[in-house]
Amino acid sequence: MLKQGKLFLILGPSGSGKGSLINGLKQNHPEYEFPISITSRKKRKGEKDNEVYHFVSKKEFEEKIEAGELLEWAIVHKNNYYGTLKRPILESLDKNKTVIREVDIQGFESIRKSISPEQLVSIFIEPDSTENLIERIKKRSKITVEEVKRRLESAKNEMKKSSECDYLIHNSDGKLDEAVEEVEKIIEKESFGKL
Ligand code: 5GP
Repeated sequence: MLKQGKLFLILGPSGSGKGSLINGLKQNHPEYEFPISITSRKKRKGEKDNEVYHFVSKKEFEEKIEAGELLEWAIVHKNNYYGTLKRPILESLDKNKTVIREVDIQGFESIRKSISPEQLVSIFIEPDSTENLIERIKKRSKITVEEVKRRLESAKNEMKKSSECDYLIHNSDGKLDEAVEEVEKIIEKESFGKL
């Protein structure tokens, strides 16, 4: 069977463990592509530019929207721009690569209008409990009380839309390896379909 390039979108509320899950996939699969996105949010302690995000100002972000460089963009948690860059994703799909990217539900809704359903798979990561989710959000470095509130509000909205995704998986505390394995199985199954 021929392998077809596919874009796997990882969705889920802030604090559901999307970042750790993607890091697990990165370690196990150097052959996958992990394109960076751009954001106007401030860099957190320990974050490096061009690892997960390219950090830009609001003005620079707006210039990239104008230039048509983004596959999708959204204002997430009501205060910052986030967007996926068109070129790296489309080029990787053309090379039949497995592409993994985290987006919010608005990003998913835009991307599904421009990428064919045969090349798009959405995976929603569900936290094990609301209490754990709140704790994980609060632990984010340098996060203000206002920001915690905004993230909890977004989390409620994201959870409402989980049924629109192709797959729903649980990421329970202490069971990250199992969640990574589950996503690997989905990728394997989805990547070897008929062309
Ligand atoms: P954080 O600020 O914690 O890194 O990310 C906040 C949220 O932004 C994530 O939960 C994710 O849903 C969303 N996000 C990250 N990258 C993108 C992107 O490229 N596009 C969109 N639409 N959302 C993104």
